Amino acid sequence: YLSIRDLSLSFGEKKILKEISFDVQKGEFVTLLGPSGCGKSTLLRCIAGLEQPQQGALELDGQAIQQRPTKERDIGFVFQHYALFPTMTVFENVSFGLKARKMDKGTMNQRVFKLLDLVQLTDFADTYVQRLSGGQKQRVALARALATEPKILLLDEPLSALDAKIRKQLQKDLRHIQKELNMTMIFVTHDQEEAMLISDRVFVLEAGEIVQASSPFELYTSPESPFVAEFIGNNI
Ligand code: ATP
Ligand code: MG
Repeated sequence: YLSIRDLSLSFGEKKILKEISFDVQKGEFVTLLGPSGCGKSTLLRCIAGLEQPQQGALELDGQAIQQRPTKERDIGFVFQHYALFPTMTVFENVSFGLKARKMDKGTMNQRVFKLLDLVQLTDFADTYVQRLSGGQKQRVALARALATEPKILLLDEPLSALDAKIRKQLQKDLRHIQKELNMTMIFVTHDQEEAMLISDRVFVLEAGEIVQASSPFELYTSPESPFVAEFIGNNI
């Protein structure tokens, strides 16, 4: 469904991503896991078209996308710091991208309220975003990213600014929503426990290379290198 072949990117002399290849199935939840600076965000940005790799082929849903600008890739994303419009309501934030596409009002309302129901913010539709908690804001960001029905959703540490309890709840909710919509998601974290909990597969990155791509269970029971073993074993 998403297919990446030999993707390499350097900033100046420094190789950041080194011939990365992988496939993600439709409806799969994949997590990129690795230490700070290993290239997780850069890889997501390449998929989204926010960064141009020097080399590599990207295919999404059977179409080559590496030449397309971000807007034409049908990709949604959510970042660590929700880039919401603070002086707009929850409804206005979620419907923003749909309005821009000139969707008719009835269809738009229906879609927005379905999503607000999914992220459990129906009662907050008319609330200004600046009045919401961090967890609620991240739910709005998720609903907004899903509103345009992207082919794939990229999430770059969307939970890392939240406190532990809210984070745990959102992990569960995110996974529930992903299954409910059969949405393909690539999630980035440097928290191995989080990765193990919510993923179908985990890709471990070390210095710009995927060193193992396995189910959480396999990763835990059969790490393929000392780096993976140590990284996975770290905080358990
Ligand atoms: P973190 O967990 O801290 O978010 P990360 O795995 O997401 O880390 P990246 O942000 O992808 O890491 O960065 C990978 C490497 O690329 C780092 O060494 C970083 O300094 C470098 N880098 C990122 N963006 C640029 C840029 N625009 N110009 C030069 N170097 C960059
Ligand atoms: Mg990052």
